[in-house]
Amino acid sequence: MTQSRRMGPFMLGEKLGAGGMGVVYRATYVKTGQELAVKCVGAEHVDNDQVTARFVRELKILKKLRHPHIVRCYGGGTQGEQMFYAMELVEGGSLADILSRRGRLSWESTVEFGLQICDALKCAHDHGIIHRDLKPGNLLTDGEGLLKIADFGLAKGWFEEVSALTQTGAIMGTALFMSPEQAKGETASAASDLYSLGAVMYSMLTGRPPFQESSLLKLCNKIVNDPVTDVGTHPEFVVLAYPAP
Ligand code: ADP
Ligand code: MG
Repeated sequence: MTQSRRMGPFMLGEKLGAGGMGVVYRATYVKTGQELAVKCVGAEHVDNDQVTARFVRELKILKKLRHPHIVRCYGGGTQGEQMFYAMELVEGGSLADILSRRGRLSWESTVEFGLQICDALKCAHDHGIIHRDLKPGNLLTDGEGLLKIADFGLAKGWFEEVSALTQTGAIMGTALFMSPEQAKGETASAASDLYSLGAVMYSMLTGRPPFQESSLLKLCNKIVNDPVTDVGTHPEFVVLAYPAP
């Protein structure tokens, strides 16, 4: 059902997606009619200080980063208890949506998307910002070949914080692309983002993350201890074409 309610200067429309922390709506800036996306803290989290602190931090970080492959943030505010921020609307769905529709991508698309995200990560890292939660659900496509990093809301130690909560699905989604050091509960670095990008590219090529397990503990164990199946020998990987010599 299409929702129509006011959030600050924006009129909210349909829900575009939801994650562990927020709900994202298509919205209109009433003054100009500009279409954009508005992310709100989920109703169940408005009293959760950790979540709201992360949301504020995400807004601050996003406002700092201006890059063609990072979702552009326009600013934020509060309405009553509800915090929100506005950002550019990225219409093509997330990479997770695309992978679930198409199974996997060609090596050409994988390389192209990989380069775009490398460029965006360089910008973030140069600003001293580590994403810590790079995964297909946090990469948005514009439907015309551009991929953009979204969701800079992950606080340090997020994995340990939520492991006590009953959000297994949400944790698994994140942990699938997590670096070994994060799986061990150690501090993430810029290199952790690069590991996650590698895991995302692995999924683009094979349609699966490098490791899958029935429990979080087993998954983390595998990420830390097991060698990954070579993409070239992965049963799901088909070489569609070779690059020109
Ligand atoms: P959370 O912090 O709760 O994980 P995200 O920022 O990852 O929230 O957003 C959740 C989902 O909302 C995304 O996976 C995507 O489907 C959708 N979404 C987020 N930002 C945008 C945007 N700027 N334009 C279009 N859809 C978006
Ligand atoms: Mg997310």
